[in-house]
Amino acid sequence: MIRCASLPALLLAAAFAASPRSAAAAPPPRPLVVTVDDLPVAAGGLHKDAADRARVTDGLLAALAKHRVPAVGFVIWGNVKEPADRAILQKWIAAGHELGNHSFSHPNLTRSAAEGWIADGEKGRAGLDGFLRERERVLRFFRFPYLNEGDTPAKLDAAREWLARSGQRNLTVTIDDQDWSFEEPWVSAERKGDAAGLARVGADYLAALQLSVRHAEETGDRVLGRRAPQVLLLHANAVGAANWDRLFSWLEETGHRFAPADEVVADPVFADLPRLAATHGFSLWDRLAALQRETAAREGVRKLLEVQSQAWSRGDIETFCSTYAEDATYVSLSGLTRGRQEVLERYRRRYPGREAMGTLTLDVVEMRTAWGIEVSLLDDAVPGRVQSVSVVARWKLVRTGQPDATGLTLIVLRPKADGWEIVQDASM
Ligand SMILES: [Zn+2]
Repeated sequence: MIRCASLPALLLAAAFAASPRSAAAAPPPRPLVVTVDDLPVAAGGLHKDAADRARVTDGLLAALAKHRVPAVGFVIWGNVKEPADRAILQKWIAAGHELGNHSFSHPNLTRSAAEGWIADGEKGRAGLDGFLRERERVLRFFRFPYLNEGDTPAKLDAAREWLARSGQRNLTVTIDDQDWSFEEPWVSAERKGDAAGLARVGADYLAALQLSVRHAEETGDRVLGRRAPQVLLLHANAVGAANWDRLFSWLEETGHRFAPADEVVADPVFADLPRLAATHGFSLWDRLAALQRETAAREGVRKLLEVQSQAWSRGDIETFCSTYAEDATYVSLSGLTRGRQEVLERYRRRYPGREAMGTLTLDVVEMRTAWGIEVSLLDDAVPGRVQSVSVVARWKLVRTGQPDATGLTLIVLRPKADGWEIVQDASM
């Protein structure tokens, strides 16, 4: 989640384009659970007056009630400072919504040690749990601040272990968006009495959310191979209070049904969340898409190694060498070879004819993929494509009349239009 920039005009136009949906062909409405982060009120620095926070809350709850939306609100317990803040939480409960834990002080797991981060989350859990128990409510859900679930496997596992141990469930987001970034311009326009500014920010807020919903639907349906249920991320803020009515109307018009959290998380995809260590917060669909790309990369490289060993074993040294990049570097105990053509000629000199080549097997000892963060059209961090794969493999040559030969190789590959190519090969 990074700060939102201005939206390209073309995308805005696309978002507002009518969605053709004939009554006869309409699929059943897509279940969507609305989740609202940063209660009592997000961007507290802009809402220091308790009456202002109450007004924002009333606006949010009115829109939810009008559209019969059962929401889950996530509380930053450290921001529940005065009786007025408790009154806000009480209003959410009285309106029939569920409250979940969003930590005490909203720490970023990527920038924290696991122990300190868990201690903060536990402080938030204990505070909210006490509040809910007094009202005979149960705390069930947790929302990771910034959606950051751990940048290392160890932190990811530590956070999950704490959630399991403390009886909290990660209500992960499938529609990640930048709704929070419109709050400052909205409040600023409101306080200046700038009606045109309010109209502009409101339109951008809606357009950005519509694009995020569309993107999450396309990605979710693609990675699941079926109609994906959705978990929408919103924030408890003034721009939301003024614009949720329009947002919810649009969601209804475009085939969504506001579903309770229990119904949506009963979908099997939420039973086993992907274990993807990442520095930034991603939606569930982006996490799954990243893992699918990683699996595809590994399969593509395995296929290339198979092509290599089969070509070698039938004496086809040209096909064997076609897997090298034009500018590949080959390193062996006998020295350095540069370029595919030179690699081919070296092999031809050393293995003149099929008998000298024998039968090759390549057993993968280790395969690593490298990918980073990319920026979406909406200026949000998303997992990037796999940029390179490195492989440690054991090669073995079986030749008639000669002892078997074996050794290790380290191969570095990069993606090309229709698969992978070897850019570096160190064989010994
Ligand atoms: Zn938050």
